[in-house]
Amino acid sequence: MVVGAGMAGSRSCEELRAQGFEGEIVLLGAEQHLPYDRPPLSKEVLAGDLDDTALEVPWDRLDVDMRLGVAATGLRPGTVETTGGDLPYDGLVLATGARAVTLPGAAGGSVLRTVDDALLLRSRLVPGARVVVVGAGWIGAEVATTAAARGCAVTVVDAGAAPLGIALGDEVGSLTVPWYAEAGIELLLSTGVASVEPDRVELADGRALPCDVVVVGVGARPDTGWLEGSGLELDRGVAVDEHLRASWDGVVAVGDCAAWQSLRFGTRLRVEHWDDALTAPVVAATTLLGGSAVHDPVPYFWSQQLGHYLQHTGHAAGADAVVHRGTPGAPDGWTTCWLRAGRLIALLAVDRPRDVVQGRKRIAAGDPVDLTALADPATPVKSA
Ligand code: FAD
Repeated sequence: MVVGAGMAGSRSCEELRAQGFEGEIVLLGAEQHLPYDRPPLSKEVLAGDLDDTALEVPWDRLDVDMRLGVAATGLRPGTVETTGGDLPYDGLVLATGARAVTLPGAAGGSVLRTVDDALLLRSRLVPGARVVVVGAGWIGAEVATTAAARGCAVTVVDAGAAPLGIALGDEVGSLTVPWYAEAGIELLLSTGVASVEPDRVELADGRALPCDVVVVGVGARPDTGWLEGSGLELDRGVAVDEHLRASWDGVVAVGDCAAWQSLRFGTRLRVEHWDDALTAPVVAATTLLGGSAVHDPVPYFWSQQLGHYLQHTGHAAGADAVVHRGTPGAPDGWTTCWLRAGRLIALLAVDRPRDVVQGRKRIAAGDPVDLTALADPATPVKSA
């Protein structure tokens, strides 16, 4: 059985069949929609360029018993409790993804996680609408970009000192500050939010922002509440080893809900990125079918925001040096590299896709890097 009909769940069905599994596959999905892609929700769907992002999966050929609108509510060894009754399993893939965090007082539809959220929000992003986005993270920046492009008057509020500060650190995140003014967006940093109402955001400093639309983009949490109390080990997600095996026999976890042991980085990672949901099911299916494979990719993520294409790869925790390729903040792009003990561990490329392809390979190789050559944007990362 596969619980969660998103990218990771649907890829798990495909991989189980690709690896020769001929038994019954039941796919449970809490939403009423066929599995679909989420990255376009904050980009093309919100912009009005796309309505349907359903994944292209040959469901008939895969022979999957798909049960949409059915949510798992509890787990016992061998049994998934669901809103449609108890269902037995021999092998189980947990792929319930993540749930957007909201704030007390925010109206329904203030977060962006599902296609229904995106279509509702799009209908409200009319020219002249006053939009307040709480949170200058990845989703907040992308929503602000699209809302401004649709002619809305957009204000982004963040308690941190820089946009993307949690993901990239304040110093690098600050380099994106000028992009907001260039897009006609007001950015309020180091500004706490005291309360949110559907038509008003009260700031901690006493100011109030009247608005027509509030969007809360303050992160997501693994959708594992239904597993609490089951006895399955959780550790900021479903705790799994490098084979994606959970603490019970015959149970694996993939995608946004999985906290997997990275041998490469020596820590447990929970990667809320599309690329991980795409690739982890290959290993999870192998594990479930009794084989041995290890999931240890160099994480990769992209974002399109404020006229720029950002790509991030690796894991920067523990870096002891930072090197920039090109002038940080230059309008035509630059690359920031994080190193530890002379080796590349993470890289952010702004409008420089070639650097990220080569950087990801260097991080995987783990070989020493020449810092002077790395700092020269004319020297390919692969040669530095
Ligand atoms: P999900 O896509 O969350 O799917 C999980 C599914 O499980 C959901 O359909 C949910 O309804 C269902 N479910 C949950 N609980 C239960 C239950 N108890 N029972 C049954 N079903 C359940 N990543 C990038 O790398 N680049 C991007 O540009 C990017 N943009 C994004 C933009 C948006 C707006 C969002 C929301 C995400 C974006 N991401 C991006 C992240 C990427 O989409 C996720 O990493 C990916 O969707 C994770 O796939 P998943 O299958 O693990 O989880």
